[in-house]
Amino acid sequence: MGCTGSSARENIDFEALRKKREEELQKIKKEMEDLKKKEEKIEKEIEELKKKEIGNPKIELEQKKNEGFSNDNKEEAVRRINDEEEEIIKEEERKIKEEEERKIKEEEEEKKVKEEEERKIKEEEERKIKEEEGRKIKEEEEKKIKEEEEKKIKEEEEKKIKEEEEKKIKEEEEKKIKEEEEKKIKEEEEKKIKEEEEKKRKEEEEKKIKEEKEKKIKEEEEKKIKEEKAKIEEDEKEFERLKNEEISSIIPTDVKTPSKNCIFLGVFGDIRTDKQTSLDRLNAIRKEACEEGVKDPQTKKKLTMSDYFPLKWSTDLEKISRIRAAESSFTIGHERLNGKSIWGVVFNNVRSWGENLAWNWGSANSIAMINQWYEEKHDWVTGGKGVTGHYESIISTRYKYVGLGWFYNEIAKYPNTLCGSFSDRDDIAPEDFLDGKSNIIQTIEITKQKVQSNFLEGKAKMLTGESQILTPKVKISGGYALFPLNRYATLSFKSDNNKIAKVNKYGKVTAYNQGTAKITCIKSDKSTFSIFEIKVICNHEKKLIKTVKPTCTKVGKNTYECKICNIKKEEDIKTIPHDYTFNLNKKTYKSTGTCKVCKKKINFKAPSSMEIYWRNKETAKDGSYYGSVPSNNPVGSIIVCWTSDINGDSDYRELVVEISDTSILEYPSEIGDFTQFKVLKKGEVQITIYTKYNTNLRKTFTLSVG
Ligand SMILES: [Zn+2]
Ligand SMILES: [Zn+2]
Repeated sequence: MGCTGSSARENIDFEALRKKREEELQKIKKEMEDLKKKEEKIEKEIEELKKKEIGNPKIELEQKKNEGFSNDNKEEAVRRINDEEEEIIKEEERKIKEEEERKIKEEEEEKKVKEEEERKIKEEEERKIKEEEGRKIKEEEEKKIKEEEEKKIKEEEEKKIKEEEEKKIKEEEEKKIKEEEEKKIKEEEEKKIKEEEEKKRKEEEEKKIKEEKEKKIKEEEEKKIKEEKAKIEEDEKEFERLKNEEISSIIPTDVKTPSKNCIFLGVFGDIRTDKQTSLDRLNAIRKEACEEGVKDPQTKKKLTMSDYFPLKWSTDLEKISRIRAAESSFTIGHERLNGKSIWGVVFNNVRSWGENLAWNWGSANSIAMINQWYEEKHDWVTGGKGVTGHYESIISTRYKYVGLGWFYNEIAKYPNTLCGSFSDRDDIAPEDFLDGKSNIIQTIEITKQKVQSNFLEGKAKMLTGESQILTPKVKISGGYALFPLNRYATLSFKSDNNKIAKVNKYGKVTAYNQGTAKITCIKSDKSTFSIFEIKVICNHEKKLIKTVKPTCTKVGKNTYECKICNIKKEEDIKTIPHDYTFNLNKKTYKSTGTCKVCKKKINFKAPSSMEIYWRNKETAKDGSYYGSVPSNNPVGSIIVCWTSDINGDSDYRELVVEISDTSILEYPSEIGDFTQFKVLKKGEVQITIYTKYNTNLRKTFTLSVG
């Protein structure tokens, strides 16, 4: 930490350095002066030595002068010497000048040298200063580098430590991961083993289940076959029963086989009888006439008590009356359906000589119908214009025997028909009353011209799984439907499509799959009695296979499929309300806006009221609902919330339900007028309910449950 060299760098003593350098410079200058003096002395000495060596030219010249004087003309010689002298002086002057110039030059050169030296010294100093600075900078840099390096080393070390640590952590982690992986692998293996075992167990189970299933299927099939067999047997039995019942319930008519151009048909009904009571009533009327002296239709004289004798009952006349009652329940008159005379019905040579008929509603009895005849008394006694024949037959001294037949025919215009057959014979036997019989088939002979058509009576539409019995019938004039006689013995059935509907021996149709089947009723001569078309509609449980959700403008569609019938059925789903951010006017509760989906402008009335009532299905004593939440809500119980009196436009009454804790109270599967909440566990929970299109209608309830 820290930088130990930094203070020295900051306090370099440049002044001291400069002084030292100046001193050094002075010393050098003095040394140079001394050297110069020495140089001058040496130069002088050299000059002296030279003079001595070659001699002075002036002296030489003086010598010459002296010599010439001696030889030549003295004057000439002196002039020549003077010239030479002049020349020498000139030479000397020139030499001095040269010397001076040389000296100046030397001085200049010296100055130059000196300047050069000073410059050099200065440069040296500057260089030294520079060097010092450079050195310092270098040191600084080196220090910096060193620090940098130390830092680097430190960082490197830290990095290393860090890396080491990271490595350790990494190793630790890797170890952990490895352990984890190993654990996982181990678990995986254990899981695999377990799964394998599970698989084996499952396979074993599946095998068992499969075997069980196959066994069941087999059993089921066997059961089915058995059931089928039983059904067939039952059908057979039922058929036999019906056939026997029919045979035993058929009451013959007066002829054993149909006459020419006639057929036999059966009329279903009851043969009722009031025997003694009815006979007593007839005789009471006779007696009354004698007592009252009513005119005898036979003698045209007033009856007296001595004329009175009671009518006797004739079994044969009763038989005639029964056939006639059944026949005239359709003809409503003294007519037969076979076109023959009513007097032609004969049993044991006994025939009727007088026929009284009466019709009445379903509740009437024979006395009421006898009284219908008796009502003619007034006209007979007073000579009125009304029909009196029936009253006359009762009181006439002509008739000795009577037989009454009372037939109840549900399909006739008047269900009750009473026929009285009178005879003037006095020797008819036997005089027994016949028994009444319910649910009989009275044989009726009818001309073929009166037969309009054959048909099968039943429902044209059936649901799969349904059964019905088709009843063969014959429509006759007057719109009545009678039974073909001996239908079980003479008619059979077949279906053209047993997959759609099957028919059994006695016309029982069972529907299986959707479609149409034709049921044909066949006569014993193989000709067709009638064909009946049945439309079977699938009633099997269908699977929802496709849903197209509705929008605000388009209805949705649910598509169902029946795999048995191999059909698809579509069902519309109502359109949903327009979706938009509504803008509620709090005064009018009118809301306006634009639908997000269809962009339609919406204007509707939002709900402005909502009442809420409660009931716990389990703990409430009766079916009542209360304004407050129920206090006793055990776990598992169902709380019902009834939201009522929600007004506004019908499409915009949607409710929103919020539950604070759905682990306590299950969120309802359906929200509506009666929303159900299931209690899951003990606790306290808030239920908030509001209308989606008017959130101001918000109510929150706190429930304590469990
Ligand atoms: Zn089906
Ligand atoms: Zn819309």
